[in-house]
Amino acid sequence: MAKELNPWLAADARFNEAAGRLNMDEGIRKILRSPSREITVYVPVLLDDGRIEVFTGYRVQHSIARGPGKGGIRYAPDVTLEEVRALASWMTWKCAVVNIPYGGAKGGVICEPQILSPGELERLTRRYTAEIIEFIGPEKDVPAPDMNTNEQVMAWLMDTYSMHMRQTVTGVVTGKPLDLGGSRGRPEATGRGCMIVTLQALERFGMKPEETSVVIQGFGNVGGMAARLMSKRGFKITGIIEWDAAVHNAKGLDIEALMQHRKQTGSIAEFAGGDTIDRDEALYLPCDVLLPAAKEGVITSQTAPKLNCKIICEGANGPTTPPADRILADKGVFVIPDILANAGGVTVSYFEWVQDRQGFFWNEDLVNTRLEEIMVNSFKDVVKYSETHKAHNRLAAYMVALDRVSFAIKLRGLYA
Ligand code: NAD
Repeated sequence: MAKELNPWLAADARFNEAAGRLNMDEGIRKILRSPSREITVYVPVLLDDGRIEVFTGYRVQHSIARGPGKGGIRYAPDVTLEEVRALASWMTWKCAVVNIPYGGAKGGVICEPQILSPGELERLTRRYTAEIIEFIGPEKDVPAPDMNTNEQVMAWLMDTYSMHMRQTVTGVVTGKPLDLGGSRGRPEATGRGCMIVTLQALERFGMKPEETSVVIQGFGNVGGMAARLMSKRGFKITGIIEWDAAVHNAKGLDIEALMQHRKQTGSIAEFAGGDTIDRDEALYLPCDVLLPAAKEGVITSQTAPKLNCKIICEGANGPTTPPADRILADKGVFVIPDILANAGGVTVSYFEWVQDRQGFFWNEDLVNTRLEEIMVNSFKDVVKYSETHKAHNRLAAYMVALDRVSFAIKLRGLYA
């Protein structure tokens, strides 16, 4: 199972399969199989008790063939270079699937953010930024939030970079607070993107939102927003699964009331508007759409055979393992793969960067309209590849992405 859940092996397997189907030139394959740059930094931080601790940080730039690197920074005790490398390559493919002018990158710092004080977190963020400063920038590599990093961390990163440049450079990072050059619509963007591509899938099957049941795993940024927006759009959200419990109502849950209940009690359990059920069993509830939006490695060779859904919309990154891909394809499940389904977030990050560089900010309707246009076009591109190449959707999405990135490399030629 450890091998099945290894993110680098999964990224490599999918890359190889798509490159093989595209008959990709062996030289281009070699370029894309390895990252273009990996930076390891050792970050000294003065702790509140007067001691100095040294943290290890990474920034991996997988490809900058189509534009600056783009990808989040995560703070976690178990971050590894291999994981950051895999996530950086996913960002290359994700940005290429939605055809935005970015490459792929990712960063991480090995630390326990929960035990660091706000002051320690700020000093860690500023020194990490200073250590990687020559490698980032609006035209080079644009970080964003990821696990355990947020708007505040992005504001510190932007400020540190700006102090070094002797001018305010908001476009060095996305996911900033609205008052510091953030974009309207960013908090909802990933969930909204999930809804847009799910609506596209329904159209293909002649289904209507009002007749569609949805089970969502994870009630955080992505899952919570998707639940809220989809419920407003008429979908029946029949199940919500969290880390401690799940709630089910075959007639549809009242999502706003469930959010209120969680705010008051700290959990979705014991919600009066549904039955509280076992979280592991809830994954197998019969539904039209399953939307995993919690974590990676949920749909595996062990869980996939028991799933009871027609469509899977991957809000989370890497929820499905390569062996499970085959099982889902055999079962005829229509999978909207992560690099397409959750790309609404990076798309609105791209809008944030564009607005920062223009110094001209859009209203929320414009953000949402442009997001919809990109998500719908990308969905259609993937489905077209899937039909033309007789490939399942994930393979098709990788093929679209690899085609675009390798074309850019060929056009640019090899600098020698
Ligand atoms: P989040 O922390 O806001 O939400 C995750 C939720 O999942 C939390 O409520 C958590 O309690 C719950 N959870 C954790 N373990 C669980 C388990 N075993 N079973 C059920 N629920 C569990 O995080 P998020 O930003 O919503 O990200 C969720 C996933 O989406 C991640 O894989 C992330 O990489 C991916 N993603 C997020 C964005 C974004 O814009 N936030 C963009 C692209 C991809």
